[in-house]
Amino acid sequence: MSPHAPKPAQTPLEPMPDDWTRALAVVAHPDDLEYGCAAAIAAWTDAGREVTYVLATRGEAGIDTLAPDTCGPLREREQRAGAAVVGVDTVEFLDHKDGVVEYGTALRRDIAAAIRRHRPELVITLNHRDTWGGVAWNTPDHVAVGRATLDAAGDAGNRWIFPELTERGLEPWDGVRWVAVAGSAQPTHAVDATAGLERSVRSLLAHRTYIEALTDEDPETYCRTFLTQNAQAAADRFGGKPAVAFEVFGR
Ligand SMILES: [Zn+2]
Repeated sequence: MSPHAPKPAQTPLEPMPDDWTRALAVVAHPDDLEYGCAAAIAAWTDAGREVTYVLATRGEAGIDTLAPDTCGPLREREQRAGAAVVGVDTVEFLDHKDGVVEYGTALRRDIAAAIRRHRPELVITLNHRDTWGGVAWNTPDHVAVGRATLDAAGDAGNRWIFPELTERGLEPWDGVRWVAVAGSAQPTHAVDATAGLERSVRSLLAHRTYIEALTDEDPETYCRTFLTQNAQAAADRFGGKPAVAFEVFGR
């Protein structure tokens, strides 16, 4: 862009809906929520809201130097610790296979079952599109889990799509009012990250083994830089406040 070109129009981000009590966050891997939106989660649990995490995998294929049977339990422990930092006590794993999660009815059914168990009004997931804003290619697990979560919000409310869930005692839950996608290049809403930012750094830092394998940078500096820059990037469209941005699909 030339220095004289007008800035693209910056539509303000709306505040996230706040008339809800339970949220369910569904993502592919340990660390997806910590990279994506833990500062928002902290703000919500501070306000007395209940947030539950569901992970499709244990992230067992995420560290080159650790075999999956060692890596999976370690990453599960790091994920539980990272969740606890932002006030999340319940973390469940669907045990799909890391790196080769398949979009399809099995995944939709498992996520619909989780929605029926926890009965959230708000569902959170991570960028389901092919790329990160057209810049970097997304991973197939994120695409599969994001899309399946958007779909499962509807599946959970339909008695006839997965009748085996009703037979297992999981009654339909048609109460999901929004699915909010973190890491979207087309955000519509945001949450003030000011109060939760420091805890989001510690939450991401809980994935220490993963981060130490990923970068030579000091882990704490790496986490703080990444999350602060992300929160500042959303500030331009949110009254100058550091923020976590979401693309919200109403239902
Ligand atoms: Zn991931």
